[in-house]
Amino acid sequence: MPEPGSGTTPDSLSRARIIDGRAAAAAVRTEVSRQVSVLAARHGVTPGLAVILVGDDPASEVYVRNKGRQTREVGMRSFETRLPASTPQSELLGHIARLNVDSAVHGILVQFPLPPQIDERTIIDAIAPHKDVDGFSIINTGLLAARGTGMIPCTPLGCLLLLKQYVGELSGQRALVIGRSNIVGKPMVQLLLREHCTVTVAHSRTRDLADECRRADILIAAIGKPQMIKGDWIRPGATVIDVGINRLSLPSADGPRERLVGDVDFESAVRVAGAITPVPGGVGPMTIACLLRNTVAAACAQHGVDPTGL
Ligand code: NAD
Repeated sequence: MPEPGSGTTPDSLSRARIIDGRAAAAAVRTEVSRQVSVLAARHGVTPGLAVILVGDDPASEVYVRNKGRQTREVGMRSFETRLPASTPQSELLGHIARLNVDSAVHGILVQFPLPPQIDERTIIDAIAPHKDVDGFSIINTGLLAARGTGMIPCTPLGCLLLLKQYVGELSGQRALVIGRSNIVGKPMVQLLLREHCTVTVAHSRTRDLADECRRADILIAAIGKPQMIKGDWIRPGATVIDVGINRLSLPSADGPRERLVGDVDFESAVRVAGAITPVPGGVGPMTIACLLRNTVAAACAQHGVDPTGL
């Protein structure tokens, strides 16, 4: 309990630091924008990012629009290809093949999910690895696992940048990654291993998830289940990174209202954790910022420029 008159309330003592993903993402974009200017002035190179959207999924529409806007805002060229939901796989492969050899395009991203007639793995592996700014290709997956290099998937990279900013030294920390997907969970595990964390992976068959959570200094939730991780599962003072984006439909006087929530029950977790990402405003903004960062890295590699010298 605080001393009487100390001015510190019990509530303020027990609330976690809120990890500001919007501010962190803005800082990444500012640095990317500076690098883009230097690349143009010194090397005559303007990085270009091509995004392909197949179909008219509303959430994908929003993501693609945001990616295009942010790409232009940092001074890069944005190329968008919009194809109908009925597009055959062979036609999409043809578009990717053309972008692979287009020297104005340094990064290629195909927005997921894709319609059922298209196999996502085939599409990912059709993108030239040096233009695979999502880092999902088998080559980049292997480079990360074997050497800790290659193009790093944007969402785990964003989580890592937040951890470095808010935790600092990660070596020796006990990290729990909940989720083992190829796009978030597995690359997150590799990145944390690269930082010398002691890493545990939990997934849908994990027996006592609460018990695993209670041991973690760093907890990364990438599950896709609204508010599943409760405050009393969290080790006091732990850093919590909530990757989940779940849409809840809540009743209101004007009809159902949509609300975005994470995989962590924020209200209970914020009272126990040392630092925590909110949803929205945590990991989400970092994903596109890291995509822009990867595109600059790809442009540098394709033009033989050392990015550390920019
Ligand atoms: P996914 O469905 O591919 O994987 C979910 C993982 O959660 C699986 O590995 C599964 O084993 C695990 N899981 C499921 N139920 C579980 C349970 N009861 N206990 C423990 N583990 C369980 O999902 P994904 O693509 O990795 O995405 C995860 C979440 O992250 C989703 O909410 C998604 O929307 C969000 N996401 C956010 C961003 C971002 O930019 N912030 C990017 C990608 C994904």
